[in-house]
Amino acid sequence: MKITYLGTAAAEGWPALFCRCEYCMKAMKAGGRNIRTRSQAMLNDDLLFDFPSDSFHHMQQNRLDFSAVTAVLITHSHLDHFAPDDLHLRNSAYYAHNLTSDHLEFYGNERVIERMQTACRLRPEEPNADGLTIHLAKAYEPFQTGKYTVHPLRAFHALEENALNYAVSDGEKTILYLHDTGLLYDDVYEYLGANHIRADLVSYDCTYVALPSGGGHLGLDSCPVVRKRLEEAGVSDGKTISVINHFSHNGKLIHDELVPVAEELGFLTSYDGMVIEF
Ligand SMILES: [Zn+2]
Ligand SMILES: [Zn+2]
Ligand SMILES: [Zn+2]
Repeated sequence: MKITYLGTAAAEGWPALFCRCEYCMKAMKAGGRNIRTRSQAMLNDDLLFDFPSDSFHHMQQNRLDFSAVTAVLITHSHLDHFAPDDLHLRNSAYYAHNLTSDHLEFYGNERVIERMQTACRLRPEEPNADGLTIHLAKAYEPFQTGKYTVHPLRAFHALEENALNYAVSDGEKTILYLHDTGLLYDDVYEYLGANHIRADLVSYDCTYVALPSGGGHLGLDSCPVVRKRLEEAGVSDGKTISVINHFSHNGKLIHDELVPVAEELGFLTSYDGMVIEF
């Protein structure tokens, strides 16, 4: 299994769109891995976690074949995870030729689907010229898409909608994608444990970075708490790769400063373009 981190910032990006704070200026000056776009990741070459407006930039920057993607899993409707308007550019009548895959299965919660229908004028389960089929994803109702078994999980985030995290397995390896969420609900640990889901890689929300965390996001103080609970539930162990991701400029530490701090805690720090094979 391979994950490519395409965007590793929180909603505002880093440097943030209109921000001139000390931490944005520091990232701007340092450049390289300190520059972060909005949240998206690619599993192998055919599954995307989220579809923010930076998707277009991610495709160009990493020279990716997005037409080969057969599944898109949307976590929730926040702008750094979901910008549906660009998806109609998959329309093979005008904008997209020689598609590698003629279909794309799209999964999201009720609010995501509502916005998707407005943007693409589609009805659920009805493929059209975009080759898109829209599916409602619900927590703890697993489904199969291509070679992947997907377990949607309840996220502690955006409580006005049914925000989701995902566990995805290809039969050999499993990734636990925890974006966005605060401390996990007990029923997440219970579900993962009861279904014998063992993660080879866990991608942790670390929005708060060096600030005290709370609410719908994690930070350096709470990622180890979640990791410990996952270990107690038998979901992860010493062999599991732990990665932190989704960073806000308010969290102070730019990438170069964060890497050694995270390493001390046993976490890899993601950056835009980072590839991990596991
Ligand atoms: Zn986010
Ligand atoms: Zn800033
Ligand atoms: Zn969010």
